[in-house]
Amino acid sequence: MKETFTIGGLPALTLAEEYGLPLYVYDAGIIRRQFERMYRAFEVPDLRINYATKALSNISILRYLNHLGSCLDAVSIGEVQLGIQAGFSKDRIMYTPNMVSLDEIRQVMEMGISMNIDNIEMLEALGHEYPGLEIGIRVNPHVMAGGNQKISVGHIDSKFGISFHQMPLVRRLTDHLGIRIKGVHMHTGSDILDVGVFLQAAEILLNVAKEFPDLDYIDFGSGFKVKYKPEDYETDIEEFGKELGKRFRKFCKEYGKELTLVFEPGKFIVSESGYFLVRTNLIKQTTSTVFAGVNSGFQHLGRPMMYGSHHEIENVSHPEGKPRLYTVVGYICETDTFAYNRKIPEIQVGDVLCMRNAGAYCFTMASHYNSRLLPAEVMVLDGKSYLIRERDEFADLLTHQVDPKLPL
Ligand SMILES: *Cc1c(COP(=O)(O)O)cnc(C)c1O
Repeated sequence: MKETFTIGGLPALTLAEEYGLPLYVYDAGIIRRQFERMYRAFEVPDLRINYATKALSNISILRYLNHLGSCLDAVSIGEVQLGIQAGFSKDRIMYTPNMVSLDEIRQVMEMGISMNIDNIEMLEALGHEYPGLEIGIRVNPHVMAGGNQKISVGHIDSKFGISFHQMPLVRRLTDHLGIRIKGVHMHTGSDILDVGVFLQAAEILLNVAKEFPDLDYIDFGSGFKVKYKPEDYETDIEEFGKELGKRFRKFCKEYGKELTLVFEPGKFIVSESGYFLVRTNLIKQTTSTVFAGVNSGFQHLGRPMMYGSHHEIENVSHPEGKPRLYTVVGYICETDTFAYNRKIPEIQVGDVLCMRNAGAYCFTMASHYNSRLLPAEVMVLDGKSYLIRERDEFADLLTHQVDPKLPL
């Protein structure tokens, strides 16, 4: 008999019964563990972790991260507002927009939020508009790294960042307009496998940093990889922290000022904390495949379809069953596959399945596609479960739709 599947110490089946399915469950203990691991990894006098809101933005999760001592990275004005609502003081929020309108940037600026700008034209416009401007810049180090094209954002043709070759132009602008560059930032993309590659990119950013004499921080973005499969490689945060910490301390000594070391992890902090529970609607055998169809689809968890990502799937109801090969699919009317030919203990109709690593970029990407309702979200904290988002109801499909009384 296998052990009962639990989340934060609570049986998953009990949570399924209590809150209904499909359901996202987040284990706060794992968020805390990951946050503290990262916090301890870097031996520098001043470390700042700006949690990347877009990974998982439920306000209770943000409140919890604020309680742990995290700061926030926001990519939209909406995320800035969520952060403020969650209780983050304004100096603990960093706005890192890309291709956002000058109008939105102005609004965030007027809220008193710091930002990293990744566009020279924008820097120039802001310099003219705000005399005495103090701002960070996002640098593109032209390093090709990342899990795949869609999430690799630091390469030469990427839309992100100001090329490090353009720094003379930035310098000329900032000198001329009296802008103080107070931080340099890079974010090369997700899923960096190799500490060496990261350190190489780090050197490029440090070289850029030298050109600006009055920095407060250097922000190395993210890219920390977590395990999706048991045999996956995971960024060795402890080793990386030691190496980069050493390099950073040396840099600060040469630079002549203690700078703040900043990271913006999303996935590393919340990926593993998330569990997506679904119910099996049907088992369907074709000539070649056994499908397990569940009461969800890629509109709730899109990563396998969008990125080809792997999420471990467990049979929570019958963990002791004989393993068989299943292709686990959703009920959306187009190809909608969570997993191909996956060995899972024999699944029966009604069984609860659990998809792992459902914390980052899962709920935040969910939609109403096929006119399906969004699932509820639950947080488990210190052995107790809390509903942090109600399940949608039919009315939510009509919210903001208006009836203009068409002349029909
Ligand atoms: C998305 C994003 C991150 C977080 O990336 P993860 O891979 O989830 O850690 C960090 N910084 C910026 C600017 C981002 O856009």
